[in-house]
Amino acid sequence: MARCLVTGGAGFIGSHLTQRLLADGHHVTVLDDLSTGRRENLRDVESHPECRFISGSITDPLALSEAVQGTEQIYHLAAAVGVKLVAEDPVRTIETNIYPTENLLRLAVQGGQRFYLASTSEVYGKNPKAEWTEQDDLQFGPTSRPRWAYGCSKAIDEFLALAYHRKYGLPVVIGRFFNVVGPRQVGSYGMVIPRFVDQAIAGGPLTVYDDGSQVRCFAHVKEVVDCVIRLMHTDAALGGIFNIGSDQPVSMRELAEKIISRVDPALAIQLIPYQQAYGDDFEDVSRRVPDVSHLAQTIGTKPSMPLSDVLDDIVRSKQSSDSDR
Ligand code: UDP
Repeated sequence: MARCLVTGGAGFIGSHLTQRLLADGHHVTVLDDLSTGRRENLRDVESHPECRFISGSITDPLALSEAVQGTEQIYHLAAAVGVKLVAEDPVRTIETNIYPTENLLRLAVQGGQRFYLASTSEVYGKNPKAEWTEQDDLQFGPTSRPRWAYGCSKAIDEFLALAYHRKYGLPVVIGRFFNVVGPRQVGSYGMVIPRFVDQAIAGGPLTVYDDGSQVRCFAHVKEVVDCVIRLMHTDAALGGIFNIGSDQPVSMRELAEKIISRVDPALAIQLIPYQQAYGDDFEDVSRRVPDVSHLAQTIGTKPSMPLSDVLDDIVRSKQSSDSDR
């Protein structure tokens, strides 16, 4: 049994990770300020004897050092997330994503914890390559467009983590998440699948931005969490950076059609210009597909659940949580 800290453990991915670590027999401390995380995400594990919840912010150095005390592994997932939130509040993005990571890395050097840093495919910016590998260039747009603050802030986190690895030998693994989806994800911060599914269940229309030709790959959170844990248990992964996601591309229009066919074939699609959805300063990424061979070679597996199964699971869970109300 290991003693683990999951920052952001009440968030969508963090709560699935917490649940899995507890199921594997570990002790888990969750630190979350419930800004985008939700207490109900931990409903199934809250009373678990090995689960400890601290309501506090990673921006509070005292809460951070209390949470780290006595742990052996740190999974740092707390961050300002979601393109919508980031575009609306760039100050919060920068303050949440940079200084607390540095504090946590410093604490881990003192405490000797193994460290997982959750990063994001946003670090590639708008690199035009068809598939992104970990050694590709980061290509951000201008600082006048707030979206890029997110990718830049997480890229700085990566630089910090790698610097602590090189300078102090901190055992750190960096995972770049690509569009992780699944039960408990909410659409309030812009994420497309929960938005489409909620819209479909409410009778439509599904709001596809621009012309819907943008491409993404969606991985089920359970597979993603499995990859994170495997990486943390693989010595060869230490000091490494890994894309974590599905490599099966789909356009947003096709995605909307797949959801419509599952919920109600009579539903309509409404095309909405970016400007109307996100404001004047917005720039989208037209294609985001990871090369996950580094991940697969290192841990022997990669997210591979077909999109149809992923969507079935999400639609089923949204429909049953709607009928609970
Ligand atoms: N999107 C959309 N309709 C929505 C929300 C998002 O068409 O209601 C598009 C968005 O423009 C982007 C894609 O779906 O091209 C994925 O958006 P999301 O915010 O889920 O993830 P990210 O942009 O970070 O990949």
